[in-house]
Amino acid sequence: MKVPTSVIQVLDMVLPPHSLITGKVLLKGDHEADTELWQSLKFIDAPCCDACGFPFEFEQGEAALCLRCHAYAPAFDRARSAITYDEVSRKLILDFKHGGRTDGLKFFAAQMVRAGRDILEGADFLIPVPLHRARLRMRRFNQAALLARAIAQQIDIPYQTEILVRGKNTPTQGGQSFLGRRRNVSGAFNVRAGRQANIKDRHVVLIDDVYTTGATLTACAKTMKRAGAARVDALTLMRVVRPQEVAK
Ligand SMILES: [Zn+2]
Repeated sequence: MKVPTSVIQVLDMVLPPHSLITGKVLLKGDHEADTELWQSLKFIDAPCCDACGFPFEFEQGEAALCLRCHAYAPAFDRARSAITYDEVSRKLILDFKHGGRTDGLKFFAAQMVRAGRDILEGADFLIPVPLHRARLRMRRFNQAALLARAIAQQIDIPYQTEILVRGKNTPTQGGQSFLGRRRNVSGAFNVRAGRQANIKDRHVVLIDDVYTTGATLTACAKTMKRAGAARVDALTLMRVVRPQEVAK
């Protein structure tokens, strides 16, 4: 039987080693060696807001905060992200999340370890932001859990998917404002019954794919703090960086 060309093209796209950006075959077979990938992405590093990780153009002194964190302290202690979410990097997330392309995971995790080196120091465990059961069934995997597992494989911190659960199946959040998003996810997360002891007095790091307004991470952090966590940080692969809307 002849395999249709479209199937070959799909297989061709999903099988490594192909560039995450251009789709071209990588001669060295390694995303780390893909110069076009390195040149196309905007990596986030210091200087940034000490609380939410919003990147600053210039050094602003130790523990400097961005406008929004000045006005409204986030519920998490510190958040960090590895790559700016833009027209180029968006492709990586879409291929991963909706296309199921997972061969970039090692590269993603390495970048998250780099960006999160301060918050990962001394952390007790990683907790991926959970999907609601219905959405998990539809998508078949939780992209945040795959990122947490890939990070755990690179550093000596375990990840835990059994503690935090999403009780409310919130609508997708695209296009909503910070306040709209905050209302939307408020109360969506719970610590599973009988699991409070696991996080009491612990330092946990929430893991997610994209930091958009911080509303989801805020809702998760509030839940974890109420359950007794000593410190809740957040680490995401990408971050939307746009002029800040200050919450009132
Ligand atoms: Zn900030």
